[in-house]
Amino acid sequence: YIMSFLLPDLGFDYTALEPHIDARTMEIHHSKHHNGYTNNLNNALEQAGISDISIEEILMNLDMDNMALRNNAGGYYNHCLFWEILNPSDKQGLEGDLEVAINSAFGSFDNFKEQFSKAAATRFGSGWAWLCAKDGALEICSSANQDNPLMPGIGCGGTPIMGVDVWEHAYYLNYQNRRADYISAFFNVVNWRVVSEKYKNA
Ligand code: MN
Repeated sequence: YIMSFLLPDLGFDYTALEPHIDARTMEIHHSKHHNGYTNNLNNALEQAGISDISIEEILMNLDMDNMALRNNAGGYYNHCLFWEILNPSDKQGLEGDLEVAINSAFGSFDNFKEQFSKAAATRFGSGWAWLCAKDGALEICSSANQDNPLMPGIGCGGTPIMGVDVWEHAYYLNYQNRRADYISAFFNVVNWRVVSEKYKNA
């Protein structure tokens, strides 16, 4: 049987991000939505006869016309990254090389936050906003549905080091239509230690 992807453990309790992201939203998001992307990814890979490559390789070499694989490989990867950067274990603030790079690219953290929040708020319908590293520099972009910048022709083409899910399933139970409030709350739960590690490895 071919390799299959597993739903990763969240790594923290569903309650851990309250009051910013509520436990019920986290539980449904992880155990239902992410689990669904995981199962559908494995089915799409079997259909396509693809096995034994990493999720990053799948995304970078994706046939964009294969919608089942595109949606579910994206959904699998995007949520894995999202849980990682929200993990409250050994949480740190922004510092070091990433802080320098953000100030260099955007002028200040406040400018970065404003531009990232705008990218997330103005993504029409469902999608994601991303902070990406590309050739050592930082860029902000957004993508529709479960697309991401590792896919051919999507976003800035960089490596995502931070992302925010702006599908309604990510916030509607607690924030209803107030996406801007959810985006603002998201900044309270980002673990910059994890984002910095991703920046170093990008
Ligand atoms: Mn989601």
